[in-house]
Amino acid sequence: MAHVVGEPCVKCKYGDCVDVCPVNCFYEGDDMLYINPDECIDCDACVPECPVNAITTDSEAKPEWVEKNKSFPYAEDKRRTSKNDVTHGPNHKA
Ligand code: SF4
Ligand code: SF4
Repeated sequence: MAHVVGEPCVKCKYGDCVDVCPVNCFYEGDDMLYINPDECIDCDACVPECPVNAITTDSEAKPEWVEKNKSFPYAEDKRRTSKNDVTHGPNHKA
């Protein structure tokens, strides 16, 4: 089990989810964020923080989004630990 970021996050990236994750398992791709399923502890903290309801459990998510979160090339330079570090979203400050 893990939580999954789905389609509503695309080009949204508010980043509120990042600030509450106790294990910092959100990573940033070109147009959305992803949850590393190997690190997520299913605490549910991020779910109510997302303004567009993009985050669900993997059993609730469509298989394509489970796969996208699973196959994202997770690397430390993509890990986000603060919403202020999320780029290109509406909260991005130049
Ligand atoms: S709160 Fe997180 S999951 Fe929701 S849209 Fe923003 S970046 Fe994506
Ligand atoms: S469920 Fe918890 S551990 Fe998993 S991504 Fe959300 S805040 Fe992080």
